[in-house]
Amino acid sequence: MHLLIPAAGSGRRMKAGKNKLLINLNGEALLYWTVRSAFLSKKISWVGIIGQPHDKSQIINSLKSFSNKVNWIDGGDTRQESVRNGINNLPNDANKVLIHDGARCLIKPELIDKCSNELEMNDAIILAIKVTDTIKVVNEYQFIKETPNRNFLWAAQTPQGFSVQKLKKAHQKALDNNWSVTDDASLFERLNWEVKIIEGSSTNIKITSPIDLKIASLFLNKD
Ligand code: C5P
Repeated sequence: MHLLIPAAGSGRRMKAGKNKLLINLNGEALLYWTVRSAFLSKKISWVGIIGQPHDKSQIINSLKSFSNKVNWIDGGDTRQESVRNGINNLPNDANKVLIHDGARCLIKPELIDKCSNELEMNDAIILAIKVTDTIKVVNEYQFIKETPNRNFLWAAQTPQGFSVQKLKKAHQKALDNNWSVTDDASLFERLNWEVKIIEGSSTNIKITSPIDLKIASLFLNKD
């Protein structure tokens, strides 16, 4: 299975003044832990790192023993553009692809394996967890408009996995129609293409703000 890791963000919300994936976490770069899990997965045979050209040498160096096993792809201005570059640079024999955010460094190799197995049987899958909070939809002035039934709410995570051919088509449609999305499953939804949800893990958090780094540090220490 092929795996793309978007790692081309700027980490604005982390306020670290650099790509948050290069922040030191328990002695290694945050992204090192994500890539390590990818290589510990039994199912992944090809890994593409999508990064900003100006981060390339630092990212590659931070991956230590994995650095010569990854394939570099230049990222874009948005996650959507980065993923589009990623799928356009997959080897020709890639039939299905998993996409996993570099910022989810607590992903367990077993969960990557589970996604890969499910993707072999489906055209589109995503990892997600049931929402435990009551979610409010608000208007632009921050007044509540509605409270959706929690039984139907799931929080999307990555890996997300797709048929390469379909994902390319979906990204092309997005370009043609100016759609802007924060995950790839959203493109499939707009096209009314089915996406299967696989139950993820509450520890598979996306490192976004400084508090997430503290949580990640604790979980990495535990393993
Ligand atoms: O900013 P956020 O954490 O939501 O980004 C999700 C993932 O997408 C991160 O791993 C980030 O590095 C990546 N990304 C990207 N290209 C961008 C913006 C974000 O690859 N232009």
